[in-house]
Amino acid sequence: MRRKLAAGNWKMNGSLAAMAEVRALCEAHPAPTVDILLCPPATLIWPMASMRHDHPLAVGAQDCHAEAKGAHTGDISAAMLKEAGATAVIVGHSERRADHGETSQTVAAKGSAAIANGLLAVVCVGETLEEREAGHTLDVVGTQLADSLPEGANADTLVIAYEPVWAIGTGKVPTLEQIGEVHGYLRAQLADHLPGDADGIRLLYGGSVKGSNAAEIFAVADVDGALVGGASLTAEDFSPIVSAL
Ligand code: 13P
Repeated sequence: MRRKLAAGNWKMNGSLAAMAEVRALCEAHPAPTVDILLCPPATLIWPMASMRHDHPLAVGAQDCHAEAKGAHTGDISAAMLKEAGATAVIVGHSERRADHGETSQTVAAKGSAAIANGLLAVVCVGETLEEREAGHTLDVVGTQLADSLPEGANADTLVIAYEPVWAIGTGKVPTLEQIGEVHGYLRAQLADHLPGDADGIRLLYGGSVKGSNAAEIFAVADVDGALVGGASLTAEDFSPIVSAL
């Protein structure tokens, strides 16, 4: 049985003042029956991990470097994130693939470093609008998945997030049929690549998830939770999504 996961990606948002939102979220879900993960900017990992006390809310990062240390100005290694209190890291978000030219091979290396350091790797895949309209969605996400799979991936170390690029921050959401089609395809692809683990690996949907659409998305087969951007920044917006799981 896959444990549901409500994950929030704060992107380049938030500040120390936003720790009040985390406190409110913990208070709203004192004993959650689902996993909750918040991924703030790296500067907020330690403050967030320190203030949650014994609440099971997990704190994650939004990227890591593939190397353990060295001359990589501005980068942060998986071990450093772990020391700061992170237990997970998002790799291969479309914004990093686009803004930083990350290839699936880079993503696989980053994910491998994350897993080797005991972090849960949340690997993102997703098609652009152009690719969807050309009928290439399954090819694109299937290739991204195959090429981005980290070493050491299994049900305990890997989560896949399907985030159509055109649905991120746009208020546009695929139909439930479209979400189901991609998630079913990803599950089948995982069974090819990681037989024995595919059934346990959680598949998140991401892209304009809100309190008002979360329940219907979570009812789709093979959707095990969400990776939420904008609506994860406040307890008021994120709490209904956690409750919908
Ligand atoms: P939004 O929920 O703001 O559309 O962002 C989704 C996302 O990119 C999460 O990683």
